Amino acid sequence: MDFARQVIGPDRLGNWVIVEGDRVLRLGQGAVPEEAAAGQMECAGEVISMGAVNAHTHLYSGLAGFEMPEVEPKPRTFLEILERKWWRMDRALDAATLRAAARWYVAEAVLHGTTTIVDHHESPEFIEGSLDVIADACAELGVRALLCYGATERNGGRDEAERGLAECRRFIAENERPHIHGVVGLHASFTVSDETVAEAGAMCRELEVPLHVHLAEDLADVEDARSRGYDGPLERLEAQDALPEGSILAHGVWLDVGQVQRTVARRCWLVQNPRSNRANDVGYPESLRESPRVALGTDGWTSDLRTEGEALLEIGRDQDEDLAKLAARGLGSNLLAAELLHIPYAPDAGMWQAADLVVADEAGPRHVLAAGRWVVRDRKLTTGDVAEIKADAERAARELWARW
Ligand SMILES: [Zn+2]
Repeated sequence: MDFARQVIGPDRLGNWVIVEGDRVLRLGQGAVPEEAAAGQMECAGEVISMGAVNAHTHLYSGLAGFEMPEVEPKPRTFLEILERKWWRMDRALDAATLRAAARWYVAEAVLHGTTTIVDHHESPEFIEGSLDVIADACAELGVRALLCYGATERNGGRDEAERGLAECRRFIAENERPHIHGVVGLHASFTVSDETVAEAGAMCRELEVPLHVHLAEDLADVEDARSRGYDGPLERLEAQDALPEGSILAHGVWLDVGQVQRTVARRCWLVQNPRSNRANDVGYPESLRESPRVALGTDGWTSDLRTEGEALLEIGRDQDEDLAKLAARGLGSNLLAAELLHIPYAPDAGMWQAADLVVADEAGPRHVLAAGRWVVRDRKLTTGDVAEIKADAERAARELWARW
């Protein structure tokens, strides 16, 4: 780590930041105070901003960009997309292919200025130890991460769910990597029984962590909860006492205004994933405007939060949204990370007190500092060899497609 005190800036707007280790010591504008002028990074042509946070994604999908085969017949519904593509892919993952996927995804993420990733993981044929593979990739390449295994019963029933929850418990108890944390995960209400939902809730209370779950992404999730005798998947989590404060609810497309207000009262986070929602044609989450606790995720798409934010505004324009409020989704992600990953942040200062910064120009991030470590310098990854990571991903992808 670069623990020496250094000055970053002044940037094009005259702002400068003094960092030491993984902390921001001071922020300012104009002339840099003399006593601070130790190492200085000039960036008169760039702008300093906070590192981006991806509030919901899937590192296991990192190989999808490497010639994923077309599936026949072409999936038409959300459930068909899951069954014919993503669930086939996650069942084919082993330790080596998962490692390759995670390293490629994280490398691309930091090059795009992402310094924190909230991941939701599933690899049914490789459950025990899977979170360590992902955590190692994040630690090696230098990104903060909040990890979980999304427990599900869709392949192996209750036994599979028990193993998924046990992997969360094991990781939360054993992980000692700095800047990486674990929570409890459920895939989604529609692939688990009441017993599994209740067990996940009890584990959250015992370990004092929130839950990360896909919620009301598609109408199918709502219909499933109704068929089980609940008003919807949110009510099902509430009934099983599985919605602790800080829980991350991905999507919420089919929540109504009252339901979103209840997530606010419970201090849960909702995460909007515009590119994914559009591609899966699940609908637009209009009730999310009722919550101040909404973050932005890429849901397995490349961790480029700038492109995700542009897609959000494009879609929001058609929905007559207040675009300024939509643009604040990225800030919501920063607040989520501050709260759940214990990153010091005073929103009034407009900057972390943690050394997670991006120095960018029109072409994108030039330098990226994550938890006090320069992970990108002059648009190059410093923590790994991108060519090697890419070659490994290409090799792993060929293996994965041959197997799935
Ligand atoms: Zn997702």
